Amino acid sequence: MEPIVVIGGGLAGTEAAWQIARAGLPVILYEMRPHVPSPAHHTAELGELVCSNSFGAKASDRATGLLHHELRALGSLIIATADRHRVPAGGALAVDRAEFSRELTRCLETHPLVELRRSEVSRLPESGITVLATGPLTSPSLSADLQRLTGLEYLSFFDAASPIVVGESINREIAFLASRYDRGEAAYLNCPFTADEYQRFWQALCQAEQAPLKDFERDSAQFFEACLPVEELARRGVDTLRFGPLKPVGLQDPRTGSRPYAVAQLRQEDRHGQLWNLVGFQTNLRWGEQQRVFRLIPGLEQAEFVRMGVMHRNTFLNAPKLLSASLQFRDRPTLLGAGQLTGTEGYTAAAVGGWLAGTNAARIAQGLPPLVLPPTTMAGALFHYISTADSKTFQPMPPNFGILPPLAEKVRSKALRYAAYRDRALNDLSTWAAALSLPLQPLVPDEC
Ligand code: FAD
Repeated sequence: MEPIVVIGGGLAGTEAAWQIARAGLPVILYEMRPHVPSPAHHTAELGELVCSNSFGAKASDRATGLLHHELRALGSLIIATADRHRVPAGGALAVDRAEFSRELTRCLETHPLVELRRSEVSRLPESGITVLATGPLTSPSLSADLQRLTGLEYLSFFDAASPIVVGESINREIAFLASRYDRGEAAYLNCPFTADEYQRFWQALCQAEQAPLKDFERDSAQFFEACLPVEELARRGVDTLRFGPLKPVGLQDPRTGSRPYAVAQLRQEDRHGQLWNLVGFQTNLRWGEQQRVFRLIPGLEQAEFVRMGVMHRNTFLNAPKLLSASLQFRDRPTLLGAGQLTGTEGYTAAAVGGWLAGTNAARIAQGLPPLVLPPTTMAGALFHYISTADSKTFQPMPPNFGILPPLAEKVRSKALRYAAYRDRALNDLSTWAAALSLPLQPLVPDEC
């Protein structure tokens, strides 16, 4: 049998190659390091963690923790290796990064069905089953070839994402639903400022601490002139925001019957209205600073952030246009995407993308139908989100509870709500796997 090709030996590609070999099929894994370096990696190891050594919160009633549990049940190599090399990190799953990547490399290098080729792939293979997992820093030559395949507009090189908050955490006694000049249906949640509230917010925004740009990102700062960070706009003058993204024209606060001094608008992000995007708030502020400053917006005092604003280099596909929830390219089902390149965000999300793409690549080779995970699981919700989001405004998404379908009954307490999402996810994962006769590892308790 012709080997399946996996391109990129990061978290997603390593997991994908492992799942293919685990299914008993030969696989060629291409990794360009160390011959061709990436701007962020420092070693030649597979699955190198480019920055933090943390896979996020580990409790099963937290979004990443639930995904860890699902990955363990599905038999992921990445999570098993992370569990073996964890280091004390309070509520987070953090690892000894050197041991973690060394073990992944050894596992793949010594597997009889895996051939590791240390070379850059500059063109996608014309035929055969291929998993593309080259990550946020996909090499320029392959990016150019991908653009040839997808069309120029469907591959982005930068994130300019505004923060997203959970709908239930917005104070609806202050924020009101309306569209400017009452045009069309009321589509935006509007957070009205008084002059004093605006002054306080503007000052905090101007003084807030920036996240430092990485060396390789400095050159790209020029691209942002067309899409300036909200704090940069604020620094240009006290009223710049009031004539820009915070303009109040065409809006009337139902509490006062008059036009507010300024208005921050939130746009619905998902079909169920669980997630709301702060329009025009792309930012380079540190994450802690974003929460502190944006909670000064009237109505967002208790806002729960599921994605922070970012402006950084990130190569990603327009997944809603190109991919299905099985991670197959719609126009070429034997090509699958995995990891950050597909518009998911973070280490754990990359691992689960690798699991699904690798598993499905093997299933296609075996003549089996590809899997689609239940949307009520955190993994399934991620892939449903990226394959069905609005393609015009698509930005990468990390695991979070806002992308899960709502619960049958409203649960007011956040802790109980998250526990209910967790119970439903693990239950549905078991039922789904049983129906397909897929073996699941026993679900492990939170102490793992
Ligand atoms: P990667 O882990 O980047 O793997 C892609 C692999 O493909 C690389 O090994 C690369 O060398 C290889 N490759 C690229 N092009 C080619 C080619 N043409 N041929 C062959 N091989 C190729 N996420 C977090 O959760 N926490 C963080 O702290 C964090 N920090 C980050 C910091 C930076 C600077 C960046 C860029 C990203 C960060 N991320 C972080 C996001 C992070 O990249 C992903 O979470 C994760 O690494 C994505 O895994 P991946 O497998 O998709 O990509």
